Amino acid sequence: MVNIPEWVYEFHGHKCPANPLGYRAGLAALNKLGVERASNKELFLVCENGPAHAMGCFLDGVMSATGCTYGKSNAVAKNYSKTAIVLVDVNNHRAVRVLLKSEFQKKALSSEFVELRKQGIEPKDISADVATPLINKVLNMDDRDLFEISDIFSSDIQGPKGTYTWYECDRCHEIIFENAARVLDGKNVCIPCFESR
Ligand SMILES: [Zn+2]
Ligand SMILES: [Zn+2]
Repeated sequence: MVNIPEWVYEFHGHKCPANPLGYRAGLAALNKLGVERASNKELFLVCENGPAHAMGCFLDGVMSATGCTYGKSNAVAKNYSKTAIVLVDVNNHRAVRVLLKSEFQKKALSSEFVELRKQGIEPKDISADVATPLINKVLNMDDRDLFEISDIFSSDIQGPKGTYTWYECDRCHEIIFENAARVLDGKNVCIPCFESR
């Protein structure tokens, strides 16, 4: 059984099967690449699901396991609506793709948990009697029954370079960084001021 730290559920906000599933997908990718969780930007994550995906919670699990987060700018979501990730070992240009197996996903999507979600019941209001067995199932299955894990392939994906160059918007006087500054009448302005000009 894979042990998931309690903070992963706390960060996510509720207990559902997709969050630990994402955590396991992240672990499987780290394991295949033979790397540790990113403390800085050693890894870059491309998550292929996106907003309003039925398993959107998956992404929080992946971010928790890999240390690739939006805050560190080493995670992006592609809105392909697939339950898959690509994890890149940035310095060594190696990557792996982990896809949730269709057979497993079909079963998960016909579970009582998903049926209740379809009826509009929020995850935190779904009984632990429904959620816990599904979570335990996720934690007890073998990687090979859950995921299709690709061979390692080469990737030149790099995260954006951090910037410390800042300006004060000429209109609202709020601080912005150069990568989002726009020029209006020869002055640096923020995007909202630029768009409402
Ligand atoms: Zn969730
Ligand atoms: Zn402004």
